[in-house]
Amino acid sequence: MPNKNSKNTLQLDLSVLLLKMDPAWISFLDAEGISWATVNSDDLIKNHTASVFVLPKGTPKSIAENCYALALKGACLICEPDTEPVMHLDEIHYCKMPYDDQNFCGLEDKNNSRAIRVKRGKLGQGTVFCLPFCLRPLWESWGRARRFVNVGNGQLIYEEMSAIVKKNVRRVVIEIIKQAFFRQGLPFTHKWYFPGKNRSVLCFRGDADGGPKENFKCWLDAVRPFSTSTSVFFCTSKYTHKKDLIVAAANAGLEVGSHNHWHIVFPDRFTNSKSLIRAETVLNSADQHPTGFVAPAFFWHPSLYHLLEQRGYLYASSFRVNHDGIPYFPVVNGRIGKVLEIPYHCLGDRFPVSNIPLDGEISRRFFETLIKKKYSAGEPMFLYGHPDIKGRMGTSPELVRFILETAMSYSDVKPLQLSPYAKWWRQRTDLKVESFYDVKSSRVGFRNESRLSPKLPDLMVRVEFPNGESYLADPNLYAPKGLPRDEMVTFSPLYLPNAYDVGEVVYKRPDLITPWHSWRNRRMIRRFAEAYWQVYRS
Ligand SMILES: [Zn+2]
Repeated sequence: MPNKNSKNTLQLDLSVLLLKMDPAWISFLDAEGISWATVNSDDLIKNHTASVFVLPKGTPKSIAENCYALALKGACLICEPDTEPVMHLDEIHYCKMPYDDQNFCGLEDKNNSRAIRVKRGKLGQGTVFCLPFCLRPLWESWGRARRFVNVGNGQLIYEEMSAIVKKNVRRVVIEIIKQAFFRQGLPFTHKWYFPGKNRSVLCFRGDADGGPKENFKCWLDAVRPFSTSTSVFFCTSKYTHKKDLIVAAANAGLEVGSHNHWHIVFPDRFTNSKSLIRAETVLNSADQHPTGFVAPAFFWHPSLYHLLEQRGYLYASSFRVNHDGIPYFPVVNGRIGKVLEIPYHCLGDRFPVSNIPLDGEISRRFFETLIKKKYSAGEPMFLYGHPDIKGRMGTSPELVRFILETAMSYSDVKPLQLSPYAKWWRQRTDLKVESFYDVKSSRVGFRNESRLSPKLPDLMVRVEFPNGESYLADPNLYAPKGLPRDEMVTFSPLYLPNAYDVGEVVYKRPDLITPWHSWRNRRMIRRFAEAYWQVYRS
């Protein structure tokens, strides 16, 4: 809809209008860097300047009806179930989304093809996309499941992680938003995910869970030349008598963070607080003051997250919450959190569990392909391993070097530790950038606060046109009429990973999985009992 219409210009806002303050959509749009606004009354809708409307479930009926009226005149709507103007659709067909149902893990209803098919219809001059799911329950979920990761040689390695494969949800939603702009002949714009013109960042992570000292030292020697991109997290109960290793890591220039005191997260706040504070005490005694927290294994609990918020942590990373993706502020107990979640790639160094040598041809090809895929997709290279556990990365320093050298062989991959990246990401989130498109001159321009107080000079905006052309543009450039394409930086398109690609979670039929629930439950009860005993025995 035009917000300025004169003889020479017709500028359209490239933003999304959110018709209900849904925390999951806000978390999602902010992470993607898509400019959005909201309305709280029917009148305001009529004065909107956005190009795409999102109707989360629960959007008031009167607001939804106003949107339908605008769609008739050409607006584009993205509707969650129960908000779509089903009766008015006059042209229904299905556009297949990037994954077929066998691989869309996390949307468990395999017989329901809607899980990966998005209904699209015409409503007068406008287009309506009907999402087959509501974003919020998927985005907020912290349910756990065993998921299988494609290693690339026909083998699968399982990990315990978030039951909802949120990266697949993200890819579907982002694809629909993009199509909603493209169908109106508009470019899709969003704040780029990395500083400057970099296509990715490398943040290598060590989860120090305890083990032979020599393994840790070996790992440390391997990462030393890459210290600017390495962060290590200590499970401090294993290091009370090995604080020299914490000091050595810090002296090598690594960022030091907390991996909790006990290698577990409890289902109660009080015990979590004991564990978290004790880890801080141990790290403090080695003169380290963690700003980041990595949750042990697949454990997580909302009470832990609230403690991290209270104690001022910048970021956390938990496989129970998410894996593979861009950082975001998660929705916890219905509210957007203050601690940035940084989703890591889920497969570290568990290859020997599936009888694959840790430093062999298969694992090297796996990491090489994974890094290449992430580079093509413009995804961060968040890769991790265990420095000291027997048989893990500390005993395969050649593999560690191979991973780091492969990632750094790309000149536009920026090495960054997690803490500075988290700080940069927070500034990126705070900086509002609104894009507009001048229809007559085909120029893209920006309205932002940074010209008034430059806060983030290396923030770029990615601009993708419906014909596939992709650019990076500097939103700080003063161009009231917008930038022509030749004043933007050409940027090769991002390639959406295929469902069967290396490192993707692939669907495995439940009957092919050996029954394990009963012994797992018994083992888990014993594990919690032992952990509580350790905490309270004295
Ligand atoms: Zn661990």
